[in-house]
Amino acid sequence: MGRKRRGRDTLETCANCGRSVPRDKAVQDVKRVRYDTDLKGDDNIVHTEFRTVYYCISCAKHGKIFEKKKEQARRKREREMYG
Ligand SMILES: [Zn+2]
Repeated sequence: MGRKRRGRDTLETCANCGRSVPRDKAVQDVKRVRYDTDLKGDDNIVHTEFRTVYYCISCAKHGKIFEKKKEQARRKREREMYG
């Protein structure tokens, strides 16, 4: 984050409200998307992929994706603890 790279910037669309935000201003979040066939037993096929999504500042703040560094670190630690 932060407006460091100057010049022409790529616009990203906010995943929540659809607003266009410059890449370096947008808040990046990696989401784990899981697809499965809902079959019981060994026939079940599970596919997981990581998708990078961008949010504008207001959505990121509202959705608690972007917050103070300390809080972010705490949340990350918790996430690692519970898987
Ligand atoms: Zn937004």
